[in-house]
Order: sequence, then structure tokens, then C-alpha cells
Amino acid sequence: LSNQLALGLDVGGTKLAGVLMTAEGEIVAKDARHTHGLEGSRAVLNRLFELADKLLASAIEPVCGIGVATPGIVDLQQGIVRFVSTELPGWSNLPIVELISKEFGMSVLIENDGRAAALAEHRLGVGRGCRNFITIVLGTGVGGGIVANNEILRGEHGGGGRLGHISVDPDGPPCTCGNRGCLELYASGPALANSITTAIQDGKPSTLSKEIYINPAQGLSGRQVVEAAKSGDALAQAVISDAGCKLGLAIVQMMRILDPIMIAVGGSISSAGDLLLDPAREILSRYSPPGYPIIPEIVRAKFGRDASVIGAALLGWEAANGTNLKRGNP
Ligand SMILES: [Zn+2]
Repeated sequence: LSNQLALGLDVGGTKLAGVLMTAEGEIVAKDARHTHGLEGSRAVLNRLFELADKLLASAIEPVCGIGVATPGIVDLQQGIVRFVSTELPGWSNLPIVELISKEFGMSVLIENDGRAAALAEHRLGVGRGCRNFITIVLGTGVGGGIVANNEILRGEHGGGGRLGHISVDPDGPPCTCGNRGCLELYASGPALANSITTAIQDGKPSTLSKEIYINPAQGLSGRQVVEAAKSGDALAQAVISDAGCKLGLAIVQMMRILDPIMIAVGGSISSAGDLLLDPAREILSRYSPPGYPIIPEIVRAKFGRDASVIGAALLGWEAANGTNLKRGNP
């Protein structure tokens, strides 16, 4: 097995990513495409096949299994996504595992992208050796995964660990999930962009104000807010600090549920580093419940934006080696 490879595929709201990985976690090839999710599930699947084909053709060692990370509530038994938000229309209830395993003649496993990221960080990243561990991914949305007693927590219906929809303000704005004040509404890339745009329109000074007035239709990205904050923009720093406080409030709740030793924060927004994490640490130390001998560490995840696709490749290995999960067999 040592000279074989697994293929990991990550279906993101904006990007499709793929890697070929060794059993030791070494990435030997990687590639990506735009998702263009609004073109429908068939078009997305065709682009995913094309990406996989190209990677498989480049492999110099045999590829033994495929893992797929996707947003939404994933039904591992049936190999489908049972529910996904509007970014991927037609993706729900598509027999993804069956379609991919037929196309490539290999065993396939599917997992929620946040849980795949947690798997990557737990096996190969900052969470190695942590028995109880949480990964939170701040990107276009907010996802995450929980490792309890060294196992990924999936829950009864595949909906376990959807940490972006923990409410941090019951009086906050409504979320697409039906709840109010979800973490995703404060700490995702679009949330950061929205809140700085509103503040600038209210007359607060920022280096990003010219971007808004020059090209109002295009809008800002979360990444631009992070970059501005790192270059010293006070308004961008305040927006990120507020997101960090909300993140901290969500972590206080997670602490009561899991009692983890470490929380890793990944995704594109995590590149804000301590500008984001220090406010979260401060909230956690202020509100952490009594009786816990240590407060869990909040750290930056090792793999950043690549955690989900690396986790997917780990699942490719599981698919090949056989696990207790139902697999799509060729
Ligand atoms: Zn929500």
C-alpha cells in the first residue's frame, strides 16, 4: 500500500479542489476549478470528473480510492447529500458516491467538508494526539467538525458538528437555516465584507472605502477585509475583532458540550491570525465555566483552505482499505 495514492476531491461553493496524496499525507499533485454551482449539479459533476481525470492521468503510482468533501448534511449510508444550501442547486439527493464510483471504478467515501477538515487537522495537522478536538472553518460559510474520543462525531443523521449555525445572538439577524444570530452571520467572509461596507456607508473611515465607491456592484471580499486589517486599517481590525468575539462566544458553548483540549480555526479568514483569535481567547477566558482545570487552546489550523481536500484524500484511503461505513463499490 505504501506506494499507492488516494484521490481527494473538495466541492466548495466557489472552488472545486483535488489532490493526490500518499498514505503518509504527502501531496504529490493538486489542481482546482471554479465551481459555477448555479449552472446546476450536472455541470458541477462534469467539471469534478474532468478535474479527477486530469489528476488520475498524472498519477505515477496506482490510485486506490476516492474521498469527496461537500457542504451540507451528508448521508454516509446512502452516499448522498441530504440537504445543502442555495449555493449548489440540484446537489441534494444526487447519488454522488454511486456516480463517482461508476465513473472511475473505485471505492468512494463522502463526508461533510467541515468534518473532512477536522479529520485532516486531527490526523495530520495541529490536532494530532488531541482526544477531544474541534476544527472551525471560516470561509464563504462557517463549517466545522468535532472529534470526540478520537472519532469524528457525525451524529444520528450526518448533521453533527455544523458549528456555523450555533447562535451567538438570539436577537440577531435571521439566518437561512431558520435560526437567528448564527456564527456564520458574523464570522464568514461575506459577513466581514457586509459589516465593513455598512460601517463605511455610515461614514467611518477605512482604506477600503475607495474600493466600495469605485466599484460598488462588485462588493468587497472577506479576504480584502483581512488584508486591510493586517495592513493596519483600524475599521477592518474592529470588524475582525468583533467576529473574533462572536467566535469566542460560540466556543464557550462548544466547551460545555465537548470539553475539548484544542480548537483549531481554519479557512480563508483564519489568515487574520491573532487579530481574530486574541478576542476569541479573551472571551473564552472571561466566560469559560468554572471547574475546568485548563481553558482549551485556540490556534490557527495547519492546512488553512486545503484542510477539506486533505481530509477527503484521507477518506479515499479509508474507502480503499475498508471501514465500517458503507462504500460505493465499483
Ligand atoms: Zn444558521
